[in-house]
Amino acid sequence: MVSRVIPVDPFDLVIFGGTGDLARRKILPGLFRRFCAGQMPEGSQIIGAARSEMDDSEYREMVSDAVAEFGGGRTCEAGTLEAFLATVSYVTTDAKGDGGWVDLNGKMREDRVRAFYFSVGPSLFGDLAERLHRFGLATPESRIVVEKPFGHDLETAKALNATLAQHFDETQIYRIDHYLGKETVQNLMAVRFGNMLFEPLWNAQYVDHIQITVAETVGVGGRGAYYDHSGAMRDMVQNHLMQLLCLIAMEPPAKFDPNAVRDEKLKVIRALEPVDWHHIVRGQYGADENGQSYREDVEDPKSRTESFIAMKCHISNWRWAGTPFYLRTGKRLKARASEIAVVFKDAPHSIFGADAGRHRNVLAIRLQPNEGMTLDVTIKEPGPGGMRLLDVPLDMSFAEALGPDAEEATEAYERLIMDVIRGNQTLFMRGDEVEAAWAWTDPLIEGWQARNDVPKQYDPGSSGPEDALMLMHRDGRKWREVKA
Ligand code: NAD
Repeated sequence: MVSRVIPVDPFDLVIFGGTGDLARRKILPGLFRRFCAGQMPEGSQIIGAARSEMDDSEYREMVSDAVAEFGGGRTCEAGTLEAFLATVSYVTTDAKGDGGWVDLNGKMREDRVRAFYFSVGPSLFGDLAERLHRFGLATPESRIVVEKPFGHDLETAKALNATLAQHFDETQIYRIDHYLGKETVQNLMAVRFGNMLFEPLWNAQYVDHIQITVAETVGVGGRGAYYDHSGAMRDMVQNHLMQLLCLIAMEPPAKFDPNAVRDEKLKVIRALEPVDWHHIVRGQYGADENGQSYREDVEDPKSRTESFIAMKCHISNWRWAGTPFYLRTGKRLKARASEIAVVFKDAPHSIFGADAGRHRNVLAIRLQPNEGMTLDVTIKEPGPGGMRLLDVPLDMSFAEALGPDAEEATEAYERLIMDVIRGNQTLFMRGDEVEAAWAWTDPLIEGWQARNDVPKQYDPGSSGPEDALMLMHRDGRKWREVKA
């Protein structure tokens, strides 16, 4: 099996914020990997644009360092890095001033796909969009890529959408959620809609419940001030977890087409019921052995922001009425693991009697680490002495199933950038989806603020607060273990 590279047209890609953390860690190394794979056609160019004063050769040095540090150790033919760097240049550009824009325009070519990556804080989106037009860089076909956070609540998201809409059509706006670029997340759609096996069972009649877990071992790191203003609900649930939930819960779109897929996702978000506050557990990590706690990390001894959240949600539609979706995400947990588990109901009648115990099929889709899928099936425990049952996993990891091709698999950012160049918006969030997600989360946040809710403390390195375990136990269910 050889991985296939689908060609794209030659492009001019401008990265605003081209000297920033995201550009260095993800965007530039990702582009280099695509270059190595032969997917960056001749005549394409990458232009870094940011406030720092630097010339082309200094920027190329920065890009070279970023590739060495964050390129994932990819080995390419000798001379590839030099050839890649020859496509890279830099223009000092101020989003809030007029400096640099004429030079930037001078670099753009008529016959290229044009993409502008806004890898800067959202407060600059409006300035960038306006200047792209005023200085004649924006064409009807050009695309802009915008990063999360897309708003802080419904009001700010609407304002941001309105600002961008003044200058760009929705078909030109690519709101990135890198979770949607992950190989396994797309596999979710392949599993659901490419197999006969699962879809007939994919509903409240056969599914007992669904668990979505995104666990991190890291704390807030250097993002303390931003994170404390945001919290796990805004930083993770409103975007990543809800996107995963949509892909699991949506109806089959008529085709794999951007608006068909996004229409179905939107219907799921709109069908989410408000969550009862008893069904939300907020947590905050306490001190570790060095005395470092969340509050220390964010330098606010009174912070009430959650670094962990678990919740039970319901989707009011025919497919899912009565099947709960349990979502959970947090920092400083015992392992870095993201997983979606579809837990099927018990067989309606056990012919093996009560002694055989309770056995359930579980389809677990691992997003990280060791991307893959496991289906727990029930078999007979080997040996004489009657019929005892045992659950065993049918386990598939991409690394094993695809062999060396798995190493070639594209990372989320690379895939998504190539989709921008191709003009395919399927894996990007539409403005109405983002607003609907905020419309669901805002009242929950306002609710705990009005109640002066204090997050429950949990030990760093644990599975989260005790109350989160109780959320499941009360329903006679339990969380799957968080393990790497
Ligand atoms: P950063 O602070 O490291 O970089 C910001 C960049 O913007 C720098 O290149 C800076 O020169 C440029 N910039 C700032 N003001 C400017 C101005 N007036 N004119 C032109 N350029 C200006 O930030 P980052 O971590 O790279 O994040 C960029 C965006 O991506 C943010 O919106 C962030 O929330 C989002 N994001 C970042 C990550 C990440 O892993 N770093 C992940 C998801 C989303």
